[in-house]
Amino acid sequence: MMTVTLLGTGSPIPDPRRAGPSTLVATSADRFLIDCGRGVLMRLAGAGVLPPMLTGVLVTHLHSDHLTDLNDVITTHWIMNPTPTPLRIVGPPRTREIVDATLASLAPDVSYRIDHHDDLTQGPLVEVTEVAPGDRLELGGAIITVAATDHRPVEPTVAYRIEADDRTVVLGGDGVPSAGLDELCAGADGYVQTVIRDDIVRMVPNARFQDILDYHSTVEDAARTAARAGVGTLFLTHYIPGLAPGQEDDWRGRAAEHFTGRIILGDDLTAADL
Ligand SMILES: [Zn+2]
Ligand SMILES: [Zn+2]
Repeated sequence: MMTVTLLGTGSPIPDPRRAGPSTLVATSADRFLIDCGRGVLMRLAGAGVLPPMLTGVLVTHLHSDHLTDLNDVITTHWIMNPTPTPLRIVGPPRTREIVDATLASLAPDVSYRIDHHDDLTQGPLVEVTEVAPGDRLELGGAIITVAATDHRPVEPTVAYRIEADDRTVVLGGDGVPSAGLDELCAGADGYVQTVIRDDIVRMVPNARFQDILDYHSTVEDAARTAARAGVGTLFLTHYIPGLAPGQEDDWRGRAAEHFTGRIILGDDLTAADL
């Protein structure tokens, strides 16, 4: 069994209804958190999961909207664990730099808590693994394969294929379609892709907003990737602009023109089994 939960379906644009980008993949033995956007722990708790229950955190890239609440994951994983336990964090090169800087920013808090709690004698333990395309690692009971994505000029960026319990899901992160992403998705039961609506973005006369068009998959792009790869279920998330109530069928319809499989999208905490 494998369950995919869209924890936060928002984007950098603040939205009172949507947390920042993050996804939970749960298998019979493990729980993987993919990206840690705004409000991730509120949504993780909403899915019934607390940080000590995580097998690992997988980071697709180092854009801030995917990392804003990494500090909260680290702190809460540390404080809620009764015994010192490392938090596994997997990400592209420079992930260690981000984690070290986060730990440095937490130094006052760490010292307060160690001084206050007699049973707390050390700070957060974090085990960082920086990965490159082609890497394959075992984490808990899952096999994780790493591939490059195309989110240029942001580099490096990666996608993850998680295999466990005879199920497979690909977390595509941000980016436009690419041969490498197609290959990673081939035959997967699920594929989670961040998407924009280019038709709506083009109507907004703002140069900085228009810039996002060249490095994100549209709803149609994601659907075509899913179709080419023979994916079973397509999950759409990270909606730009935010998916307004009642628009779900419109977004789903645009994907369905290119992909005949199951399409999952909706509010935060939308979940589906694979
Ligand atoms: Zn990004
Ligand atoms: Zn993003």
